Amino acid sequence: MSEEQFFKILLIGDCGVGKSSVMVRFTEDSFTESYISTIGVDFKVRTVETNNKPIKLQIWDTAGQERFRTITRNYYKGAQGILMVYDVTNMQSFENVKNWSKEVENYSDLNLVKFLIGNKCDLEDERAVTKKMGEELGKSLGLRFFESSAKTNDNIEEIFTELAKDIDDKG
Ligand code: GDP
Repeated sequence: MSEEQFFKILLIGDCGVGKSSVMVRFTEDSFTESYISTIGVDFKVRTVETNNKPIKLQIWDTAGQERFRTITRNYYKGAQGILMVYDVTNMQSFENVKNWSKEVENYSDLNLVKFLIGNKCDLEDERAVTKKMGEELGKSLGLRFFESSAKTNDNIEEIFTELAKDIDDKG
């Protein structure tokens, strides 16, 4: 039997946008209303079925490093995929995507597959960033764009499955 393929995936974005929640929803199918950015784990693993084969995803959360706006170069090492996450109720987190994008370009392999994610789309009443704005930013950065909710599990499966597929198709 051939070795199971494995991809390293990073979650990037401002503190509080829901990176840990997206990771926990995807790997454990659970959600908590409290901040979990200090869970103290570096990564979680889940296998997805993509292109008719199992692919193991090792998903890394910044574990609070993003508070200091300096994420170590080591974090990016060996990554094949990045989810750049903002919070649709927080305009600042959306504007900061451009800064995160620059940092990613400085640190990481250019061949990386990156998606833009507008999380917390369940909070329609508090929305500050329209879907159209997200689509336009995605287009200008050359990234596929999705809205998601770690709370209601909207698009979470699709995002990771599509990311695994795009990485696999590239390699
Ligand atoms: P991180 O700092 O980016 O890792 O963000 P967390 O995962 O700790 O989430 C910050 C806060 O946002 C927590 O209170 C979460 O419960 C909440 N949160 C995360 N994702 C969602 C979501 O999709 N919808 C809603 N309504 N709240 C969310």
